[in-house]
Formats: sequence, structure tokens, C-alpha cells
Amino acid sequence: MNTKEKTKDRVVLSFEVFPPKKTSPISSIYETLDKLIELKPDSISVTYGAAGNDTSARTFEIAGQIKERGVDSVAHLISIGLTKEDLLKKLELLKEKNVNTILALRGDKPDFPYPKGDFEHASDLVAAIKENSDFHVIGAAYPEGHLECPSLVDDIKNLKKKVDAGCDSLITQLFFDNEDFYKFRDMCDLAGINVPIEAGIMPVVNKRQIEKMVSLNNIRVPKKFMKIMNSYENDKIAMRDAGIAYAVDQIVDLVSSGAYGIHLYTMNNPYVAEKIFEAVKNIL
Ligand code: FAD
Repeated sequence: MNTKEKTKDRVVLSFEVFPPKKTSPISSIYETLDKLIELKPDSISVTYGAAGNDTSARTFEIAGQIKERGVDSVAHLISIGLTKEDLLKKLELLKEKNVNTILALRGDKPDFPYPKGDFEHASDLVAAIKENSDFHVIGAAYPEGHLECPSLVDDIKNLKKKVDAGCDSLITQLFFDNEDFYKFRDMCDLAGINVPIEAGIMPVVNKRQIEKMVSLNNIRVPKKFMKIMNSYENDKIAMRDAGIAYAVDQIVDLVSSGAYGIHLYTMNNPYVAEKIFEAVKNIL
């Protein structure tokens, strides 16, 4: 258990969860939430289904439940297909649930025809939320550059537009080489991006999960990490423990290099989150 008082000097720790599949009852996530909440993170964010799979009812319900259980929650929201009218309704729903923070995203473009909606880029969504409400708004950032953008420099120029549109802070895509994060952070400084940046860390506990993630998002896998995956891919427990150790190593390095915050992609696995938390709680 985290016995430290939260102070401004502390490194921020947030967790990310996703809603259960529509075929499972929403309550199936509550045990996971209760275990994560025991660790007293600064917040827990809840993902939103990609275009064509609107999970807003579940995302918002879970975000509301987290808030009711005494932890700040963040509702992800994607803009693909969203009209201004939809947005205003969703802001109202979130207010009713006492959720004060939104991670404003564009979402991945689907490979089927889809309604465009009123917001082309995440920055347009950020601006509209800020114009119409007092939500704290977070934006997504990509230490290795976003897949669609020709270069990291161009992506950071676009990130600056998103921050100027009103992002209060940023959370990054997962990365496996901290050097990519440090280079990105320096480039953000040079670009005049001055909002806090939480570093996204995903503990990898199975090889297939990471292969999918990496190929979809163009994330670099360092040799050191590849060796771990190749050595332990057929031993579930060893792979899990090696994935936890790698994430802990990344976090220790990030914290000692002055990272503002750590955003842990928990994959709804409280065991892994607890192990990581136990290992790093005294340095946060
Ligand atoms: P944007 O900021 O709009 O950027 C998308 C692309 O457009 C980039 O290449 C950018 O460089 C470019 N661009 C931006 N602004 C401009 C401009 N003004 N002119 C020209 N080009 C521009 N997806 C989900 O479906 N659900 C989730 O819950 C979810 N959670 C996420 C959480 C985090 C922390 C992260 C990092 C990503 C998450 N995603 C989620 C994935 C995200 O939706 C995709 O990466 C998506 O492709 C881009 O979303 P964005 O908000 O970064 O878009």
C-alpha cells in the first residue's frame, strides 16, 4: 500500500483500464478496479472503443464508478464520427457522473466508410471541449511519432497545435526504449510544449499481445527486449515476471530522469500492476 501522502513533488501515477466486452456484464471489471484503487493511484483512465464500436455508455459508467470509489477518473473520448451536438450531450453525461477529466482523441481511422463528424483532428475536439466546459483535458502524444505522420518533427508541430488548443497535460503512447522518450521530451521543450507529460509504460506479459501492438502502432522493440520475449515466450510465468521486471527498470530510469508522471497500461491485470507498484512505490 502507498503510505506516502500525495504532494506536488511526487511523481504522478495513473492507470489505464478498458471496459469489458459487451458480452460480459459491466460489473466484471469492478473487482479489478477495487484492487487498482487500493494502490491509490492519482487517477484511472478508461478507454473508448474505436470508431464503429462506441463504448461511451460503458466507458462513462466505469469512469463514474471509479470516481464514486474515491479516485479521480479520466474518460477517453474519440472524435471520429462525433458531431458537436453529440459532444455536448457527452459532456453533460460526464458531469452527471462527476468525471472532470477527458483524454481527447481523434481515434484510429477505420478501414470502412464512416461518418466524418465535426472534428477532424484531436486538437479540434480539445478546442470544442474547452469552449463548452471546464473539463481538464489531456492529449495523446507519440515519442516515436504518430504512424500517419511523415516525421517526428511534423508530429511535434501538430502536437503543439493540440496543446495550444487547450490540452492541460499529455500522456504518451507506450515505448520500450526510454531514450526515445528523452529525445521526444527535449524536442517538446524546443517546440514550446510546456505542459506536463506522463510517460506511457506497458508491462508486456505475452508475446502475441506485444506483436499486435507494435505492428499496429509502429513501436520500436529494442534488442534487449526482443531477447526477453524470445527467451520466455513459451513459459507464461517467466514471460510475465520478465515483463514486470522490464517495466520496473524503465520506470526507475524515468523517475530518476525527472519524468513528471507514469501512466501504466494495466491491461486490466491487477496482479501485474500490484507487483510493479510494490517495486516502485518508494521512489515515486
Ligand atoms: P491527432 O492528434 O488528431 O493526430 C492524428 C494524426 O494527425 C497525427 O499523425 C498528427 O500528426 C496529425 N495531425 C494532428 N493535427 C493535425 C493538423 N492540424 N494538421 C495536419 N495533421 C495533423 N484510441 C481509441 O480508439 N480509444 C482509446 O481509448 C485510445 N486511447 C489512447 C490513449 C493514449 C494515451 C494514446 C497515446 C492513444 C490512444 N488511442 C486510443 C489511439 C489514438 O486514437 C490513435 O493513435 C489515433 O490514430 C490518433 O489519435 P490522436 O488523438 O493522437 O489524433
